[in-house]
Amino acid sequence: MARPVILSVDDDPQVLSAIDRDLSRHYKHEYRIVKAGSPREAIDVARQLKQRGNAIALFLVDQRMPEMTGMKLLAEVRELHPEARKVLLTAYADTGVAIEGINDIGLDHYLMKPWDPPDQKLYPVLDDLLNEWKSHAHIPYDGIRIAGARFSPQSYAVREFLSRNQVPYQWIDIDEDSSMRGLIAEFPGGLDRLPVVFFPDGSFLSAPSNLKLAEKIGLQTEAQRPFYDVAVIGAGPAGLANALYAASEGMKVILIEQSGPGGQAGSSSRIENYLGFPSGITGSDLAQRASAQARRFGAEMLAAQEVIGIRREDPYRIVHLADGKEISAYAVILTTGMSVRMLDVPGIEKLHGLGVYYGVALSEAAAYRGCDVCIVGGANSAGQAALFFSRYARHVTILIHAPELSPRMSHYLVQRIVVTENITVIPNVEVSGVKGEDHLKQVVVRDVNTAGERTIDASAMFICIGTAPHSEMVAGLVERDEKGFILTGPDIPRVNGKPKGWTLERDPLLFETNIPGIFAAGDVRAGANRRVAAAVGEGSAAIYSIHRYLNTV
Ligand SMILES: Cc1cc2nc3c(=O)[nH]c(=O)nc-3n(C[C@H](O)[C@H](O)[C@H](O)COP(=O)(O)OP(=O)(O)OC[C@H]3O[C@@H](n4cnc5c(N)ncnc54)[C@H](O)[C@@H]3O)c2cc1C
Repeated sequence: MARPVILSVDDDPQVLSAIDRDLSRHYKHEYRIVKAGSPREAIDVARQLKQRGNAIALFLVDQRMPEMTGMKLLAEVRELHPEARKVLLTAYADTGVAIEGINDIGLDHYLMKPWDPPDQKLYPVLDDLLNEWKSHAHIPYDGIRIAGARFSPQSYAVREFLSRNQVPYQWIDIDEDSSMRGLIAEFPGGLDRLPVVFFPDGSFLSAPSNLKLAEKIGLQTEAQRPFYDVAVIGAGPAGLANALYAASEGMKVILIEQSGPGGQAGSSSRIENYLGFPSGITGSDLAQRASAQARRFGAEMLAAQEVIGIRREDPYRIVHLADGKEISAYAVILTTGMSVRMLDVPGIEKLHGLGVYYGVALSEAAAYRGCDVCIVGGANSAGQAALFFSRYARHVTILIHAPELSPRMSHYLVQRIVVTENITVIPNVEVSGVKGEDHLKQVVVRDVNTAGERTIDASAMFICIGTAPHSEMVAGLVERDEKGFILTGPDIPRVNGKPKGWTLERDPLLFETNIPGIFAAGDVRAGANRRVAAAVGEGSAAIYSIHRYLNTV
């Protein structure tokens, strides 16, 4: 952790180096001794330290400086480092000003110049002040810090991306930290370019894209080879399993993910039905273990790269990325899963991220501590979300279309919901509206039998109402069902006894689409059993088919 700073300020170079010498002699092992030759320089240093998350423990500032008095300077930097102790260096004639400073700006002490001998006149005073500071100071965080508005979709997206990639960060809500708000207001683009992500090296990015963030934090975003045996698209359970097995069998494999590893499973607070974990495992833990395992076998993994298309140039399959780059492989497997369906009610779009969330935004739980929240949907993901949020929220209301939770929700979840005091289930309803200007305030629900409406107070609504497959990148290339799920193997419809669009003598292999060498596994595949274990199973089993295909090219 970075050492806290003692900042001394004097425009007289001789006095400044004398202070610096005496401070270094006594404090340099525990504190970083920094000097500034003018008030302007001191303000810049104080701002930079605030930006980096470094704490100033003590200011030692000369009163008589032509550019700005020491008192004025201390008043200016007080907001940036409110916990720092403030000491003024004065001549005898300034003692009246210093005494006023005790009331006006919370001056902690004034020291007469000269302070010789420091063992008697300087160190005892500063020791006391620094000990006092230590007992009150918050330990500074020297990792990545995100400063943004709590209810902004962009701030949410950046937090979600870092969580997905297991990158720890500290969140700073600028509505609660006025000095950080002031600091950001002066950046290029100011408060219109939130969030601002501060890095430990002192740099920052305003409103960064996933790709920019990934590059900055050192995630791999570019392929290292010109060519691969297999390109796996999507790092959910199916893609991770596929990449792991491919790499372990010696194939050159690249796994391309638009966000971070884990997929839908990554947002699960506890997966309780996955083999080998009797007390359950969080989705992010499972994803982290699987990524480490796949990397250990030599799988390359790209983060923050969205695949927008696939081209066939026999015998190659070319993958197009959103940033314009291309990746070539003999075989491609789509393990792109699916995401939640959108709710179509008036006014909902503008509240997206401002209290309205699709899926289970676990990272938002702390933001809604003590609030009322609604969960829309009756499947297992909704049940898990309700139980998770019940630990933070004052009350959780589950809104379902059906008359009761069973049988769509697993029995073990229903049993737990029934005994959780701060969860209520409202059956036979659908969401018909939302209310709130800059943040969700109320949810309007309509009774599906009587059409009568009622409003429910809620600061957040998490929508888990079904899903849509991520298969747009192969629209027009591979056969899909009417909902967009990808058809594979025996599920591909036949025309004149042959699979539709199929050109080879042999039939498509298991998990192979109607385009030879393009495979699909997991939730994106039509007919998949939408569970973590099933996705892992399909991703692993598809390697057998890919192997057979590679033997033919
Ligand atoms: C909240 C929640 C809780 C759940 N709990 C359980 C549970 O307890 N037990 C259970 O068995 N199942 C559970 N499930 C279901 C389970 O998570 C899924 O069945 C499983 O994750 C499917 O895995 P997948 O790899 O096929 O797809 P996904 O998990 O959906 O992963 C697909 C990945 O592909 C990426 N991707 C998509 N499009 C692109 C693109 N164009 N370019 C690059 N990358 C792309 C996505 O970002 C994503 O990471 C839960 C699901 C949810 C949402």
